[in-house]
Amino acid sequence: MTTRTNERTTEQWQAADAAHFLHPFTDFKALAGKGSRIITRADNIYLWDSEGRKVLDAMSGLWCVNVGYGQQALVDAAARQMRELPFYNAFFQTATPPAIELAELLAEVTPPQFQHVFFSGSGSEGNDTVVRMVRRYWDVLGQPQRQVVISRQNAYHGSTMAGASLGGMAGMHAQGGLPIPGIVHIGQPYWWEHGRPAGLTRDEFGLVAAGWLEAKILEVGPENVAAFIGEPVQGAGGVIIPPATYWPEIQRICDRYGVLLVSDEVICGFGRTGHWFGCETFGFRPDLMTFAKGVTSGYVPLGGVMVGDRIARVLIDEGGEFNHGYTYSGHPVACAVALANIRLIQQLGLVQHVHDDVGPYLAEGFAKLRDHPLVGDAETCGLMGALLLTQDKALGTPFPEAVEIGMVCRGHCFREGVIMRAVGDRMIIAPPLVITRAQIDEMLALIRRCLDLTLADAQRQGWLR
Ligand SMILES: *Cc1c(COP(=O)(O)O)cnc(C)c1O
Repeated sequence: MTTRTNERTTEQWQAADAAHFLHPFTDFKALAGKGSRIITRADNIYLWDSEGRKVLDAMSGLWCVNVGYGQQALVDAAARQMRELPFYNAFFQTATPPAIELAELLAEVTPPQFQHVFFSGSGSEGNDTVVRMVRRYWDVLGQPQRQVVISRQNAYHGSTMAGASLGGMAGMHAQGGLPIPGIVHIGQPYWWEHGRPAGLTRDEFGLVAAGWLEAKILEVGPENVAAFIGEPVQGAGGVIIPPATYWPEIQRICDRYGVLLVSDEVICGFGRTGHWFGCETFGFRPDLMTFAKGVTSGYVPLGGVMVGDRIARVLIDEGGEFNHGYTYSGHPVACAVALANIRLIQQLGLVQHVHDDVGPYLAEGFAKLRDHPLVGDAETCGLMGALLLTQDKALGTPFPEAVEIGMVCRGHCFREGVIMRAVGDRMIIAPPLVITRAQIDEMLALIRRCLDLTLADAQRQGWLR
């Protein structure tokens, strides 16, 4: 296979990269001093860099390459659509066959309350659409003061002004005067942070954490609250899997006050948690769902919002013109790739594969990692998982922040040929859904080796108790 690998040396790629390319969420100067790793090709669950080194991609790119790399059906769908009609918009009372067919297929694979979709180019844009749409909904219903959207600390909902505001990342809010008005936050359902220190069981804590929503609604005034938004499992926040009691209680509270419930399914959607959507895994019924990433397995950018009947009926029947949209809303090439991707998920039975086979198999493998001296907790949900690294596993004592244990471990992963992400002291994975049991064994062996190397560092540096 011809690749771009040999067109320049690694040093030449790195020099041009450092000279011109400002990377997302990156300390520009630090990276320029170090040099980027140049990824040149991929197949199945593996990547190769410009030095020819093979890496197991346990993060599916950035939580998106659910069908794995090198799927010819997606490539063919893009090429065919580009030849036939590379672009046309949906503004001028026009539509294209791929956008129509995708809307139809999404209505089929999503829960029954969803019969309509609004397309965007990304997850962030999808969440901007959510904010516009919930406020418009209440406006049409004659309650224009219902403006406030409640979200959670340590949530991730994207990086546009509204997306970053909905998100609960302090570092993002600190740069740019965020959040924008009308967005407020409650605590996250993270048992290790809030539940364990208070001596609560996970299930007890789930109810307490959901209760924070009720308290916030009462504080803001129910007549002012438009919606609550959450990821079924917080992804970028560190694979925070809520207690089973949490989401049903959130649903009850939203119903009680008439507050719209929004599920950000950008990571959890399309099979990641072992059902088509995370809300099905956790048993709640959202009014809106944001999607992106897995809808195309990342092969091309696409996002959108599934609009439940409660909202769709009001906007369609009474709303008049909705003054919102994107040039690429319903981009035909992106929609053609999404169609091929969803059909492939169906053909390969990937949702069942996660639910019945590799999901439980990963859970078993992760549970075995609990015997490792550094691992205080190991949790999975479908094909997402997190290892909590602790200084004293018996007491669950965290490492001092200055140690940056996650970054030490991630460095070993990088060198040993497996991509894991570090979020504070949580080491997280979300491998492609096509992964096999044998490949899970391979991944777990690499992870254990990286934990051993991290442990050796910790012993040498005197970081352990
Ligand atoms: C990645 C992500 C987004 C943002 O999607 P982009 O395509 O990067 O704009 C929004 N919500 C969640 C839960 C995400 O993981």
